[in-house]
Amino acid sequence: MENVQTKTTVLVTGGTGFLGVHTILQLLQQGYEVKTTLRSLAKKDSIIKALEEGGISDFSHLSFFEADLTNDNNWDEAVNGCKYVLHVASPFPAQDPKDENELVIPARDGALRVLKASRDAGVKRVVLTSSFAAVGYSINTENHIFTEEDWTDVNAELPPYIKSKTVAEKAAWEFIEREGNGLELSVINPVGIFGPALGGITSASLDIAVSGILKGNLEYTPTFTMGVVDVRDVAAIHIKAMLSPDAAGQRFIATADGVMSFYDVGELFKKERPQYTANIKKLEPIGKEFYKQISNEKARTILHWNPRSREEALLASADSLMADSQI
Ligand code: NAP
Repeated sequence: MENVQTKTTVLVTGGTGFLGVHTILQLLQQGYEVKTTLRSLAKKDSIIKALEEGGISDFSHLSFFEADLTNDNNWDEAVNGCKYVLHVASPFPAQDPKDENELVIPARDGALRVLKASRDAGVKRVVLTSSFAAVGYSINTENHIFTEEDWTDVNAELPPYIKSKTVAEKAAWEFIEREGNGLELSVINPVGIFGPALGGITSASLDIAVSGILKGNLEYTPTFTMGVVDVRDVAAIHIKAMLSPDAAGQRFIATADGVMSFYDVGELFKKERPQYTANIKKLEPIGKEFYKQISNEKARTILHWNPRSREEALLASADSLMADSQI
């Protein structure tokens, strides 16, 4: 019997990335036609290797397009024929550049390029990968529970990555309101994304908070606590937001329950994976930290999304990096 979804085409931008490749994997597993963009077609093989590791052997439903967030080339071709676009790509370096525009410009202008091309091609809905960075960096009071109503103040002084995500999400909503012409937008705001690296494709979150801790590169625990979410659940929530009639015009925080400090992450690894922790440092707190509260109620209620625990996400990262000799 033919899969009912065979004819629905979805574009995933940033197929070379940690989240991008997991998203492509789930879409292919569910029978979609998938297009993906990457900055250079030379990186196509790394995507194929990762998807093979995820169990894909038939690549006839996946096609590749070279497109960069910083110029117009090929975006029209990439979105052509797509019902949905999942705009995942955005620069996410492990270290912030000196000039914030290195991140802000590709994040904002790239999102606008993808939205314009999608509108002009008659795409039904774009799901934009924003971040908790666009939600939770302007309130620093202990008892606040962060929800989708909260916004990081774009006019405040912010680290470049946090600014890039806030500016890009704001620009996307403004575009939809002023010139969307019926194009729908849903936004996902993930906290720190962990879970298994497919085909050795990691991202700054794994490099800093998993490899960094296990290799002993980190000696102290910064004063913040972080939300944790599994990449498999973040891919899944993008697909839910793509399909749910109630998701249009909405943003959704994607987080497992609870938050952790880097000290907590180290303690988890020592308890559950002592064989990996020979190099781990004490991870003493630099200063007083309090445990942020971040709600995932909206995604649970509207999208029926049930994320894995933060422990499962972090241990899956550690196991996949170990298996891949990246630690
Ligand atoms: P990642 O592995 O670094 O993925 C980033 C992707 O964006 C890569 O495919 C990268 O392509 C692409 N990209 C960067 N600059 C580009 C440009 N100028 N033109 C075209 N593509 C470009 O990180 P990730 O964790 O999967 O991030 C995916 C999305 O999730 C991003 O929007 C990020 O902000 C968001 N997010 C991540 C986390 C987290 O903790 N990981 C948390 C919240 C939100 P190359 O391979 O060519 O560099």
